[in-house]
Amino acid sequence: MIVGIDLGTTNSAVAWWHDGEAKLIPNALGEFLTPSAVSITDDEEILVGVAARERQTTHPRSTATTFKRLMGSTKPVMLQKTRFLPEDLSSLVLRNLKRDAEVHCGQEVTGAVITVPAYFNDRQRRATRRAGELAGLKVKRLVNEPTAAALAYGIADREDREPFLVFDLGGGTFDVSIVEVFDGIVEVRASAGDNRLGGEDFTDVILNLARSALNLPAAFEDLHLAEQARAAAERTKRALSEGESATFSVLWNGEQHSTQITAAMFDGEAAPLIERLRAPVLRAMSDGNVRADAMSEIVLVGGATRMPLVRRTVTRMFGRFPNTALHPDHAIALGAAVQAGLVERKADLAEVRLTDVCPHSLGIDVMEVDQFGDARTGLFAPIIERNTVLPASRLKHFRTSMPMQPKVQFGIYQGEARNVIANVLLREVDIPVPPQSASTQIDCRFTYDVSGLLEVDVTIPASGETHQLVIYDEDNDDNIEERRAALASLKILPRDQERNRAIIGRAEACFETFLGEKREVAGELLKYFEGVLEGQDPRAIAEAATEVSTQLDQLESERYL
Ligand code: ADP
Ligand code: MG
Repeated sequence: MIVGIDLGTTNSAVAWWHDGEAKLIPNALGEFLTPSAVSITDDEEILVGVAARERQTTHPRSTATTFKRLMGSTKPVMLQKTRFLPEDLSSLVLRNLKRDAEVHCGQEVTGAVITVPAYFNDRQRRATRRAGELAGLKVKRLVNEPTAAALAYGIADREDREPFLVFDLGGGTFDVSIVEVFDGIVEVRASAGDNRLGGEDFTDVILNLARSALNLPAAFEDLHLAEQARAAAERTKRALSEGESATFSVLWNGEQHSTQITAAMFDGEAAPLIERLRAPVLRAMSDGNVRADAMSEIVLVGGATRMPLVRRTVTRMFGRFPNTALHPDHAIALGAAVQAGLVERKADLAEVRLTDVCPHSLGIDVMEVDQFGDARTGLFAPIIERNTVLPASRLKHFRTSMPMQPKVQFGIYQGEARNVIANVLLREVDIPVPPQSASTQIDCRFTYDVSGLLEVDVTIPASGETHQLVIYDEDNDDNIEERRAALASLKILPRDQERNRAIIGRAEACFETFLGEKREVAGELLKYFEGVLEGQDPRAIAEAATEVSTQLDQLESERYL
């Protein structure tokens, strides 16, 4: 079976194509969203999902979140003394989702369609694919997140649709796509975005407001306090999506510090972030050749589009209210499941097809000589331009710059800037050429597959030689089997204990955040629940779990009283 997976910065979800529709799959706690969080316990057991996220404030050094923002980098994340790459952590989340799907669907999950921000570059995409492979999943295709949302939306009733815009503001990334549906073909006309802008940046705004109001230190040396403050800012941000003002409250130096943050304060400070939403929207419209008034609808996805500020901005930008019919947290996984159904050639999807575009231009760096005879190096020569329909293959001819040149050296870049320095370097190439008295011709063919992954062929007609350059991370691709084995040997919390561990984590977090009577209640609940767990009576444990959860709900809802 092939599943569709939304591997998010904050939350992930898994879905499958079943009985003629895309359906979400619940995790061990019966929830559709699994936090993209990994934590390691003192006896080196790995927790994933809610059980891990609950430990973020109490065990910051053992817990990792938002590692999707580091995908494609080789920067290790330390959980206690164990070193993980961002893709290793993602693979642990994927493994959990795979396990949930297998339990729910009663079938082995062999492959997956995984979504990525449209603006993910080649490195980030390859890292995502490796994460899938490390989790023991054959990654059938990577689909751009807004495209997946569009697919879920576009085939909802199988009707033709004028161009519409998908506006996806998640935890860490912002993506815009313009999509059209015609005769069952869901066609992405253009994508643009900003992979450094998301809901987390708005949380930072709250944090800064609270810092200046409460005179908190600019950087928290105490990691516990930093995490607590972040969690408090997140709650405040969400509360501001519901009302005009909210309380930010943290425990600091043994005292509760609280301050009121109003929507007006928040909106004012968030203005620079809001300003950054505009450029990608304009670029997508100009690349897709669609005017704002020709857009039939604006579809919102991504948790951060729940902010009234964002909704108002979208309304103002397009002069109409956005469509929120699609569930912002579910749309992407559902779209991935549609794509999984397409990969499996499900009969009820026979009419549906998807065409997507590449979000970035690809090319090499060249040298040019200006009118004064001065050579300028490091200039970008695009070979495949952004928003070309995928798959795409383009050939361009270049020449060596000097006679008798024995080799060519250049970089393969992804991006839009004239100076390659500002683009993403994917690989450096060093190829021998037959030294000739005149300059030598070099043919470069770039091929982008449907997942947005690149291959490059360089041919030297003079020697007849062709070099196939798969963009390849030597360090990371070579030992993938070994790394999979290492990850597979980690001790993972059994699925039937996930819920209980999440409850313990939550009670511990309450114990840390609260003072006085409420802290005592949290302590009592912990003691009681741990006692029941020791008794090992499944029925008693299930009953206690429900009861303790209810009490914790109550305790948390009275947070500010
Ligand atoms: P990702 O796909 O990157 O995991 P999501 O689409 O799940 O992201 O969105 C997560 C972001 O949405 C987080 O930054 C979170 O704070 C924000 N968010 C979720 N719910 C709300 C809300 N009610 N109000 C404001 N922001 C929210
Ligand atoms: Mg998302």
